[in-house]
Amino acid sequence: MSFTLHGLPVSSGIAIGHAHLVSHTSLEVSHYVLPKALVDEEVDRLDAALEATRKELTALRQLRPQQAAAEFDAFLDLHLMILGDEHISKAAREMVRREHCNAEWALKTQMDELVAQFEAFEDVYLRERKTDVMQVVERVLKALNGQSGHVPPAGKHDVEMILVAHDVSPADLIQLKPHQFTAILTDLGGATSHTAIVARGLNTPCVVGLHHAREMIKDRDMLIVDGEQGVVIVDPDKNLLAEYKLRKTQWELERQKLKRLKTAHADTLDGTHVELHANIEMPNDLAEVKENGATGIGLFRSEFLFLNRDDLPDEEEQFKAYRDVIEGMDGLPVTIRTYDLGADKQLKGVTRVASNPALGLRAIRLCLAEPQLFRTQLRALLRASAYGNLKILVPMLSGASEIIQTLHLIDGVKSDLATHGIAYNPNVQIGGMIEIPAAALALHAFIKRLDFLSIGTNDLIQYTLAIDRTDEEVAHLYDPLHPAVLQLLALVISGANKVGVPVSVCGEMAGELAYTRLLLGLGLRQFSMHPAQLLGTKQRVLTTSLPEIAPIVQKIMRADDPLKIRDLLDKLNAA
Ligand code: PEP
Ligand code: MG
Repeated sequence: MSFTLHGLPVSSGIAIGHAHLVSHTSLEVSHYVLPKALVDEEVDRLDAALEATRKELTALRQLRPQQAAAEFDAFLDLHLMILGDEHISKAAREMVRREHCNAEWALKTQMDELVAQFEAFEDVYLRERKTDVMQVVERVLKALNGQSGHVPPAGKHDVEMILVAHDVSPADLIQLKPHQFTAILTDLGGATSHTAIVARGLNTPCVVGLHHAREMIKDRDMLIVDGEQGVVIVDPDKNLLAEYKLRKTQWELERQKLKRLKTAHADTLDGTHVELHANIEMPNDLAEVKENGATGIGLFRSEFLFLNRDDLPDEEEQFKAYRDVIEGMDGLPVTIRTYDLGADKQLKGVTRVASNPALGLRAIRLCLAEPQLFRTQLRALLRASAYGNLKILVPMLSGASEIIQTLHLIDGVKSDLATHGIAYNPNVQIGGMIEIPAAALALHAFIKRLDFLSIGTNDLIQYTLAIDRTDEEVAHLYDPLHPAVLQLLALVISGANKVGVPVSVCGEMAGELAYTRLLLGLGLRQFSMHPAQLLGTKQRVLTTSLPEIAPIVQKIMRADDPLKIRDLLDKLNAA
């Protein structure tokens, strides 16, 4: 009987094949007390298992695929570190000696303690590391039992195989690759789990967090995996199979074609150049930015440096992070947004709850209310400006008064640096985000005083339509195609273009293919988006003729019926 399971899509692509269930190695171990005379032997047995596991992990380094070497090294280092951690090895050894218990029991007890500590972390990433601890201990337990990892026998399978597991460690994933599993499904796991990271690095479709897949799917069941949607179809009928075979071929062709676009110029059919920049949250996002051929960073959300920690990053730490990104981009523009804290991104320990956080002390409002904290960031940014092509972007500006205060503060920091002979770029460009309808409507105040603009459609839509973007109850009302939103976008893009002030869109709308042509038709020539969306958007740009889309875009701008607007958008994208 056919049925469908839904999970968390973490690595895209489509796979069709037979399920290969791997048994979930239970971490349940028995507990027994040893005669005193056997304790030394038990400690030796534990040490031998720890050493065998260390060798096994070290040997895995040889198997790591080229395209994801950094990710594999990172998790292998982490697993080796956990293995060597005294909370595991030393504490287990001491427990065997102290309580005369078996090595398995000692290991499991130490693991439970460590896992409980990880579970108490607020940081999602750190919480997920408990899985790494469990995976390492599972490996040692197998070594104690004289087993190796749960890898199926080598050799080619006659049909494509899809791995179905309750959980699978990244180390096992590396070993499984030569066995040509075409997709990976797990009951456990989150988007930042190492398994997900490794699967992404392997470009293997992967759906995690399926909860009961391991129980519901039988060995050799026919499966369709859609890694883009997080959907698994078990025992599909002929029609579905045929449809997904076609989708799979199309997807593979598309991906191959897209890769070739990495170094292509993003020019429309009529020869208009479009800049495609990337949005990042942390300096280590740069690898993905480069892989996807971004010609600059359009938005570095610097507030992520401030989150999930008890202290604040000081000037030096911030300076280094900004400089690394600027240098890493080799002279390409790097737009760093001053921190947008408040609302849904609160510093740890901030207990004051605003009655309406989205309308409260957020972003530049918070910066101007706490100028000392803001000055530290400005000093770090200006110092980093000496190392390449930095642009400073200020979020949530509402009008002239905030712009004047911000520019005044920046001038103050500049003179201070100059007085102390500290290098910075005196001509660093300062831009403002257009995220509040008031900013769009009072555009002249921005154009007059700032070097560039960036439209934050996520907030602009939230504030125009009075919809809290974090509230699921009103998510259906969040509409980028609302005529009021489109009018504001047109106003800002044409107003900036008229006077030659560069303008980009860096909200989610910029990376959604459905809106690429509409934005191009409104005159947008600079987009900034998640790196994974860059090549698809480039392809859309390359197949767009501005003269051809102009009349349809004009019709969209005159329409007020949502259905008519949707129809016209489909027409725009079909061309
Ligand atoms: C936006 O509002 O569109 C934007 C890019 O900023 P953020 O999503 O970080 O609020
Ligand atoms: Mg915003």
